[in-house]
Amino acid sequence: MNILVINCGSSSLKYQLINSDTEQWIAKGLCERIGIDGSQIVYQKAGGDKEVTVSPMPDHTEAIRLVLEALTNDKTGAIKSLSEIDAVGHRVVHGGEKFSSSTVITPEVIEAIKECNDLAPLHNPANLIGIDACAKLMPGVPMVAVFDTAFHQTMPAEAYMYGLPYSYYEKYKIRRYGFHGTSHSFVSKKMAEDMGKKPEDLKLIICHLGNGASVSAVKNGKCVDTSMGLTPLEGLIMGTRSGDIDPAIMEFIAHKENKSIDEVMTLLNKKSGVYGLSGDLSSDFRDLEDAYNEGNEKAIIAVKTFSYRVAKYVGAYTAAMNGVDGIAFTAGVGENCGLVRKLVCEYLGYLGVKLDEAANSKRGEDTVISTPDSKVCVMFIPTNEELAIARETLALTK
Ligand code: ADP
Repeated sequence: MNILVINCGSSSLKYQLINSDTEQWIAKGLCERIGIDGSQIVYQKAGGDKEVTVSPMPDHTEAIRLVLEALTNDKTGAIKSLSEIDAVGHRVVHGGEKFSSSTVITPEVIEAIKECNDLAPLHNPANLIGIDACAKLMPGVPMVAVFDTAFHQTMPAEAYMYGLPYSYYEKYKIRRYGFHGTSHSFVSKKMAEDMGKKPEDLKLIICHLGNGASVSAVKNGKCVDTSMGLTPLEGLIMGTRSGDIDPAIMEFIAHKENKSIDEVMTLLNKKSGVYGLSGDLSSDFRDLEDAYNEGNEKAIIAVKTFSYRVAKYVGAYTAAMNGVDGIAFTAGVGENCGLVRKLVCEYLGYLGVKLDEAANSKRGEDTVISTPDSKVCVMFIPTNEELAIARETLALTK
């Protein structure tokens, strides 16, 4: 089967066409600046070069029309006609408490996703537009929604409740949900497989460290805690997000800098994290690592504070699970930045973690970076959210 995976953001759209038999992508790319001047589509067929075409995209429907046109293009298309697309898998950011697993999209499911819009006002509406556009352009092709929050729905109440009046949970569903669930699920299964064990027999901590970053505790194959909350702002220090702070800081900054609550939120989401900590140097760890090695003080603080926060969550989640068998690093920083992995592992000696420095300097496929006598297995494992979405879509539509 050929499965089209769609990940719609507010002004962008990532896509991959995946052959579910080989689990390889046969074409992929992205549309950028949807609804903004200068929109363009990037398209790449397996084995081919990236093609960039500037083309107006007033909305997501036009973006998806261009994606389908590129996929079926006479010369460079990966398929001959749309009939070769058997199903579509959509990433949906927030499934609230309604969705604890992926689901085939029906009119009722669309209504239920809309009801979660309040919880993810930037993301869910974009995801719904993508679903609507595909339904229009590929009528009759089955579609599946795969939620970022679903994997975390197994968290117990003591992990997901905030210390706020209970009525806010009842009235507004204010609680912790967690995100990156598709990645945490994929990587935890992969780690169990790599360790030659069943997920049911393991306590794993997954550190998804990308631009957005989160940690999860996965006990016996089920998520029992994760660091993001009602929104992706909670938890780790990220590329530009603050992560956990004293909530009173918001009022303090608002007064001192004469900012509105919306302006403070923008500051915490877009100007903070390692970007803000490094004195606006960069949110990209490639730049930060270079500056760290050159002795740039703010870059050193940024990288160390980021790593320390990860190590604290690993400690907390070891306590939550009463032990840990494996720790996995994934996503852009987790897969590529040996410096961060080393700094995190330096705090974990009390767990019996021993890092193999030579293995830690490697890149590429799943790699064990702990020594054979380390009490806890530590690995980096490339995540593949698109493949995970394709697998879920296949399971529900074949
Ligand atoms: P997201 O999907 O959240 O945008 P990614 O998982 O793609 O994020 O991670 C992107 C980040 O990964 C970059 O901003 C950069 O900080 C980091 N990164 C990517 N490649 C490297 C590398 N070779 N060395 C260090 N960090 C890297």
